[in-house]
Formats: sequence, C-alpha cells, structure tokens
Amino acid sequence: MKYPEKFKDYVRSKAKEYKLVIGAGEYNMDIYWEEEEEQGNHFTAAKIKIRTEYLFCNLHIHPPLYDYFKNKDLNQVDRIILHEMCHVLTEPFYEVVISNLAPIEQTYFEQIRERQTQRIANAIIYANPEIISKL
Ligand SMILES: [Zn+2]
Repeated sequence: MKYPEKFKDYVRSKAKEYKLVIGAGEYNMDIYWEEEEEQGNHFTAAKIKIRTEYLFCNLHIHPPLYDYFKNKDLNQVDRIILHEMCHVLTEPFYEVVISNLAPIEQTYFEQIRERQTQRIANAIIYANPEIISKL
C-alpha cells in the first residue's frame, strides 16, 4: 500500500507543528512511511526512534494511522502524532534509567514511560486545545 500525498502532507505538517509546540524545534526529524504493520503489533499506528545525543528523531508511520485518516478521525491521528513527539521530552530520562534496570523492572518502567508521555501530551492538549482536530 502506498500512502497518498494528502495523508503524508497532513502528517508532516502536524509532526512539525507539534515538534515546535513541545519546544523541541532543535530536533531534526525524518518521517518513514512503513507499509507494513509493526512486527507483532497490529495496533501500532506510529513509533518514534530518538537519538538524544544528536538531537535527531525518526518518526515511523504505520498503516493503522492511515486507517484513522481514511475514516476522517483526525482527532485520533493528531493525538497519536502528539504522543509520539512527546517521547522526545521523556526519552533522556528513559535512556538513563532503562539500562540500569533488571528485565522485570524494565517492563514496569516501560509502562510508566508511556503513561508519563501521555500525561505530558494531555497537559499540552489542555493548554492548547486548538492544536487538536475536533472530534
Ligand atoms: Zn508511546
């Protein structure tokens, strides 16, 4: 499946907007248009890989994000992109802590990381409701 330019333009524009909203304008970002589901996870709509030491991130877009776009659920598309961008803010702490944890603690810490990343996204939406498409 090839993503239409309209979708790609939308994602590019939102990712760029949110990068600035969260104060991470110094980051360089590439977007990768993945045409397959993430391995073993049919629900992953997007994923971000961050190199904090180089102020660089790669945003990976997967088919479920396009499904939301196709179904005109821009609210969900926006929330997912914002969540991924907010990982830029939590990543430095994550990197320091994760390597010092036992495997069982790592699983627990991953959950904390996701929750705190989402809380930051929620706070940003609360403070700037206009950046998210209406339901
Ligand atoms: Zn996440």
